[in-house]
Amino acid sequence: MNDSVFFATFDPLYINAPDACSLCVAQPPIFNYEYCIEEENGQRQYIKGFCCARCAQDLLKKLATTEAKEWEAEEAALEADDLDVTDLQKRRLATFGSSVR
Ligand SMILES: [Zn+2]
Repeated sequence: MNDSVFFATFDPLYINAPDACSLCVAQPPIFNYEYCIEEENGQRQYIKGFCCARCAQDLLKKLATTEAKEWEAEEAALEADDLDVTDLQKRRLATFGSSVR
């Protein structure tokens, strides 16, 4: 499914942001984020909060890892049906490498 992550800056004068990042609770937040998980049935689950720069990178990495797993699962399903997955596999490895887990 097509998950997404959205980041926006915020003005501390007008937005009542927390003092600490919602994820690591260690650093002050820089971004307002919205992580969207799209379920198999098309329903979307939104996780929202304020995060620091490092956690923003972690969220992006999480998005990439999730996508890599989906590509891998799709590839395995096609392979199980005896379809040629050479091009798909080449693209997946070029995109994500083999170490994204
Ligand atoms: Zn953080």
